[in-house]
Amino acid sequence: MARPAPRRRTLAVRVGRVTIGGGAPVVVQSMTNTETADVAATVAQVAELARAGSELVRVTVNTEAAARAVPAIRERLDAMGVDVPLVGDFHFNGLRLLRAVPECGEALAKWRINPGNVGRGAKRDANFAGIVELACRMERPLRIGVNWGSLDQALLARLMDENARRREPLPPEAVVREAVVTSALESARAAVALGLPRERIVLSCKTSAVQDLIAVYRALAARCDWPLHLGLTEAGMGDQGVIASTAALAVLLQEGIGDTIRVSLTPEPGGDRTREVRVAQQILQSLGLRRFAPRVVACPGCGRTTSDLFQRLAREVEGFLAERMPDWRRRFPGVESMTVAVMGCVVNGPGESRHADIGISLPGAGERPVAPVYEDGEKTVTLKGEGLAEAFKARIEAYVRRRYGNG
Ligand code: SF4
Repeated sequence: MARPAPRRRTLAVRVGRVTIGGGAPVVVQSMTNTETADVAATVAQVAELARAGSELVRVTVNTEAAARAVPAIRERLDAMGVDVPLVGDFHFNGLRLLRAVPECGEALAKWRINPGNVGRGAKRDANFAGIVELACRMERPLRIGVNWGSLDQALLARLMDENARRREPLPPEAVVREAVVTSALESARAAVALGLPRERIVLSCKTSAVQDLIAVYRALAARCDWPLHLGLTEAGMGDQGVIASTAALAVLLQEGIGDTIRVSLTPEPGGDRTREVRVAQQILQSLGLRRFAPRVVACPGCGRTTSDLFQRLAREVEGFLAERMPDWRRRFPGVESMTVAVMGCVVNGPGESRHADIGISLPGAGERPVAPVYEDGEKTVTLKGEGLAEAFKARIEAYVRRRYGNG
């Protein structure tokens, strides 16, 4: 089976205590959707995202009130013991805000700027240079984050003109892709020329269509050694957002492209913001790039699983693992690599259960009402009757202590 390609060699960028690139594990990040000026709400959401496993959290810095709130947010998080580095997202008025509230820039471990949104014409260059100069002075890394939806229009017009003069012009969409990549590379080179060390730059070129994203990042990866932040922008709601993000990110990560990822999901009203963190973790874990939590191998069920015992047990085991993980993670290093099988019948049940670290094969329709349990490939016990779920969870708990205890 094909394994993911080795990570592409990129520069290592330090963002607080986190390293992006340079062969470091792919970093999971997320973004708040609270008003940053609302310190209490933003602190609560950052803490929630960090607890879910977000290794960097970005907040928008769009007003002076937001900029003034950032140091207070940092302070409160530190007081709570939440040391996740914060990233500030700046558009249009970034330079003005950073100059007016330098403590905001200090409280942030990285700044994100969008070359299409720093201003127009001569003002654009002055604003860009001003932000880079501040980043140099405050020793902050920058993400130069180009977005398909806010592409530098002057650059796009220039490339369109150049294309029109070719003997065989490229299709317009190819020129737009090239403009996205060129915008990131030219901006990064301009930042270096202004004095920003090369190892303080991360690049991203987000688009909202899967094939465009793949093409753009392949081109970017071939043309620079800066670490890349991957993410499909405006991926959408629910299953659509999850599937489109997974399709795009999996292809690139499999090719060794991408040093940090964010899954941009539109939450349902009042929905859980941490879903984007869990999806990002699951993408990395499914590809075998990182391990965050034990994996439950469950068959889909079929006509042989006539009772709902199998579905209930699979869900119960998943809930049990999620509940126990904060404690296990601390006490039993390596437990995140455990696999637990919950299978519906004798057809594939014993086989999958033997391959897992611990597994149970439930009785299908017409089978004897017993459920053999396998640990490290050996049948250890047969469970049956009422209390089967509790008994299996107790076996998992004992297995974790035995297998991952004592260092
Ligand atoms: S293991 Fe058994 S119950 Fe599960 S899908 Fe296969 S045949 Fe159906």
